Amino acid sequence: MANNVISDYIPPGRHRLPPLPYPYDALEPIISSDTLRFHHDHHHKSYVEGLNKAELALVEARRQNNFTFIKYWENELAFNGSGHILHSIYWTIMAPVEFDSEPGRCTMREINKYFGSFDAFLDQLVSATIKVEASGWGILVWNPAFMHLEILTAEKHQNLTQWGTIPILVIDVWEHAYYLDYQYDREQYVKKWLCLINWCEVENRLILAMRGELPLLLAERGPE
Ligand code: FE
Repeated sequence: MANNVISDYIPPGRHRLPPLPYPYDALEPIISSDTLRFHHDHHHKSYVEGLNKAELALVEARRQNNFTFIKYWENELAFNGSGHILHSIYWTIMAPVEFDSEPGRCTMREINKYFGSFDAFLDQLVSATIKVEASGWGILVWNPAFMHLEILTAEKHQNLTQWGTIPILVIDVWEHAYYLDYQYDREQYVKKWLCLINWCEVENRLILAMRGELPLLLAERGPE
């Protein structure tokens, strides 16, 4: 994949909403079909549209050499681009409860090595995610600069990141992800959400990241 960069090139304004890898009701009762439908078909779609619009506006700004609104479009680029990437990962690292996967060997080794134990990892992941101020994400990343996993959080989609890290597992704690089902109780949503983790996909993403390959937008690839 890392050697195939040219075919993975996405021109300005050509991002596409990836299809959900399961039906709308596949994650019930933890995430209702209404929540999943609104979240994917409305919220994620609007990030894709916003990203395409920002990229095309910047193409036009470069063509005209007119950067009057550069601050606005750079903000749109970061907000919608990060939203698109994180949602693309979010869909793929969940699976129906019946899938019942276990953390893979590589995932367990790296978790135990850095966090001390799987329980300590989960406690930090849940605590950090619950404490995200307002809207944002809890994120397990691989940091190639330090060669270890880390748990980070993001406000909105784009703030408080460490540049260069590769998201492995992401938890959406914007209210649109849980409010219909859990109202204000983000903690209950996060704790129940753990049952949805597709650990096989987490393992795949971690192995790719550790090899120096970039699994960021796997969900966006596929037939036109
Ligand atoms: Fe979301």
